[in-house]
Amino acid sequence: MFADRAKIYIRSGKGGDGHVSFRRELYVPNGGPDGGDGGRGGDVIFEVDEGLNTLADYRHKRKFAAKDGEQGGKRRCHGKDAEDIILKVPEGTVVKEAESGKVIADMSGENRRQVILKGGKGGLGNQHFASSTMQIPKYAQPGQPAQELNVQLELKVIADVGLVGFPNVGKSTLLSRVTNANPKIANYHFTTLNPNLGVVDLGDGESFVIADIPGLIEGASEGVGLGHEFLRHIERTKMMIHVVDAASSEGRDPVDDIYKINEELEAYNPEIAKRPQVIAANKTDLIYSEDEDPVERIRAEFEPKGVKVFAISGVSGAGIKELLYYVNDQLKQLEQAPITFEQEYFPEEELIHIDLPYTVEKEDGMYVVEGPKIEKMLGYTNLDSEKGFAFFQKFLKDTGILDELEAAGIEEGDTVRMYGLQFDYYK
Ligand code: GDP
Ligand code: MG
Repeated sequence: MFADRAKIYIRSGKGGDGHVSFRRELYVPNGGPDGGDGGRGGDVIFEVDEGLNTLADYRHKRKFAAKDGEQGGKRRCHGKDAEDIILKVPEGTVVKEAESGKVIADMSGENRRQVILKGGKGGLGNQHFASSTMQIPKYAQPGQPAQELNVQLELKVIADVGLVGFPNVGKSTLLSRVTNANPKIANYHFTTLNPNLGVVDLGDGESFVIADIPGLIEGASEGVGLGHEFLRHIERTKMMIHVVDAASSEGRDPVDDIYKINEELEAYNPEIAKRPQVIAANKTDLIYSEDEDPVERIRAEFEPKGVKVFAISGVSGAGIKELLYYVNDQLKQLEQAPITFEQEYFPEEELIHIDLPYTVEKEDGMYVVEGPKIEKMLGYTNLDSEKGFAFFQKFLKDTGILDELEAAGIEEGDTVRMYGLQFDYYK
């Protein structure tokens, strides 16, 4: 099946840790610090690939992790930066945070490339931490942590005009007649399982993009059938050609059909229901009725509401030119800017609290903080040095340990214990 949705896990690389080492040279008994810096972790980047039309690649592989930066080494040796990973997506892909559904990136228009998760910076080696008071810094900075996220990818095609209507009313036939697109045409409901796009070329540099939005049926907005899957493709279209079977070749009433489809649109997204429409009363070549003309009935119902009705035949071609010129004129009067989605979720800000497992507990009137990474941190943090202590304070803040201590009710002057280290708490 056409893949226009996928949920994947992404992770950037952790920065390499800075190194602690000292020069060892003949005749120089106490060499200075020469620990090198860690390398940068890889970013996770999304990029538009013109050659792609679906998200099918993300149906098979669902985990994408950039590599970590290398640790710094002796003799000021800089750890290697990790490579970024680039995830290629078709134009029109919207990247959302999976849980909240908030938009992180809309890969369309000018936005061809966006860094979604930044790799951690490498930590500074101890060569940077020598000072007049601290000539033997046993402290180096750890690399910044990795970031991870579950994201939902959604392809929302980019077209000026969407074709909507019941199955079998002739949407695909119309699309193939007026554009270079080559959709499947047949007498089956849900024949079209992917949104087909085509360019309508009116000459003199006048053109617009039209999309056949398949599978709109009753109950689609409640997720019945496949209809719902495709409604998202209408989200970017500026106006709609509402195609209806004016000849009632399947026995339904065209006026009823139009109301039903509009109800679906309204239920899915009221914003979309408000967008301008034009009605294409199709299959007029099949109208023989000597009674009232169904096209006139459609006109009488909808033109007073400001919706223009064109009698057409996708098979004979009658009336199509007039329809297309009208649509082109309408588009010119509408806002030119393409419909895009603003970023609502900023991984950088949301993931600021580093995911370190630790516990904060009150024991014998003392606050005890424990966790495996904290131990590692304290192992090479020299709290006697000014810079080391400043770093340690920042670490407590960034990890959220300070917040946690406050939540546990700590007050000025209370004692905190971490792996044999004790200090009093002052703001
Ligand atoms: P869609 O489901 O809306 O995309 O409808 P299709 O374009 O696949 O058309 C469904 C059926 O209606 C096909 O058998 C078409 O040949 C037929 N059809 C489409 N437009 C016309 C038309 O203007 N006149 C006649 N007689 N048949 C049409
Ligand atoms: Mg179709």
